[in-house]
Amino acid sequence: MNTSDHATPDIAHLLERMKLAQQSQGFVPAALRIDRLHRLMRLLQNNVEEFCSTLNADFGQRSRETTLMNDILATFSSMKYARSQVPNWMRQDQRAGVFPFNLFGARVEVRHDPKGVVGILGTWNVPLFTSLAPLASVLAAGNRAMIKPSEHTPQTAALLARLVANFFDEDELAVVNGGVEVSTAFSQLHFDHIVLTGSARIGRSVMRAAADKLVPVTLELGGKSPVLIGKSASIEKAAHRIVLGKTMNAGQICVTPDTVYLPENKLEEFIHACIREHQAMYPTGAQDAGVTSIINASHQQRLEKYLQELASRQVRVIACGRHVTDTAEAIKQKCWPLHLVISPPADSSIAQDEIFGPLLQIETYSDIRDAVGKINAGDLPLALYYFGHDAQEERWVLDNTRSGGVTINDVLIHVAAHDAPFGGVGASGMGKYHGKEGFLEFSHARTVYRSGWWDPRKTFGLVPPYSEKVFSQLRKSIR
Ligand code: NAD
Repeated sequence: MNTSDHATPDIAHLLERMKLAQQSQGFVPAALRIDRLHRLMRLLQNNVEEFCSTLNADFGQRSRETTLMNDILATFSSMKYARSQVPNWMRQDQRAGVFPFNLFGARVEVRHDPKGVVGILGTWNVPLFTSLAPLASVLAAGNRAMIKPSEHTPQTAALLARLVANFFDEDELAVVNGGVEVSTAFSQLHFDHIVLTGSARIGRSVMRAAADKLVPVTLELGGKSPVLIGKSASIEKAAHRIVLGKTMNAGQICVTPDTVYLPENKLEEFIHACIREHQAMYPTGAQDAGVTSIINASHQQRLEKYLQELASRQVRVIACGRHVTDTAEAIKQKCWPLHLVISPPADSSIAQDEIFGPLLQIETYSDIRDAVGKINAGDLPLALYYFGHDAQEERWVLDNTRSGGVTINDVLIHVAAHDAPFGGVGASGMGKYHGKEGFLEFSHARTVYRSGWWDPRKTFGLVPPYSEKVFSQLRKSIR
């Protein structure tokens, strides 16, 4: 049911057909998994321009480069890598045997069986990445999948449904579209595994629905990803990379830097460097074609409310746009320049929420341990960034914080490591995809014990009625 209409589709019936098809398939050979990944790659490769223009239309403004880097290339690389690794990952593991049966030919191995049919709920901010990057691991593990893209990027969702129908049988891979009611119904289905990328709020409700049917979940959530700038860091370089990463997709990325912690005597230098960098990257101001729009009116209003609250509480806010009137005009068009928000009160909305937009919270410290203390007092973030060239400090930061992933002396880039797991911890999520860990996430590790050529139990007195001697021998072996 690769559908783009907004009626609630009969997704339960579709799931049943997919499960039946998976069952009658039996073993899913490497060649079929590779072929599915290959078809997915062709789907992207053959439709790059259409995806770029459709995402641009859904956002209002989004550069082709942003779509290529964040949605197409990031996804394509995962598929390509998974395609090359499928035979390796599928190999059965020989494990240590069970004593004393292993002395007589008994063996233990672990197979990695597909879980079955996996449901994937995606987001609007990187709609192809959040639907298709988990799918690379899902298909490598031999599963079938049903995708429900976000309703906030409807044209991209419809295009994906149409293209998937051209490349896949409906019982192999399906895209179902519709509003929140379809997502809710989707999350209540008896999938063999469900992946949600989204907010912690929806994560809780998807996990609750999954609990009813004991469906395992992978939750790829977000949070306030912090940046720690150490005293040894180059402020110029840090500002360049933070502005580049923070303005990518207008800050609407799950691992976007949310709050920067820097030494108090470096604050003004950092602010000036950010303004300079912003002007160099977006020379015509916030209306520059490189700026991505805020996705919709409700997110626009959410961000405007932050600014109103900050103004009413007299918090220092610096817009990095060209000049005030330009900035005001651009904001009306949902194209915001980066705003630096200096030390907002701890109880302000911006300090409490995941910002998910082009506002950067900045906090200062005199001792980095205080900054780490503040980070550790909050929810565990999806990403953590450290800038600096002090190896001891870097190690201390890694040892004394927790996060889904880390990039050192840059931001965002660890997500592109397609051979390394990507996922959150605590409030930023559970489970992972990418690399071998992604394959394992969507496989069932199934232990197979094969008995040997001789059963020693009778000879060793391990068949009732038991003797005293057996008890004392067993007792002695516990040492
Ligand atoms: P969201 O939580 O509003 O929606 C995510 C998905 O859940 C959508 O497909 C939506 O249709 C579905 N949904 C909505 N209500 C539902 C319900 N009641 N039951 C079941 N499903 C429901 O998130 P969003 O606004 O699309 O995306 C922004 C959030 O996602 C941010 O918190 C961001 O950090 C996070 N995110 C995380 C990652 C990651 O990889 N960890 C990537 C992108 C975005």
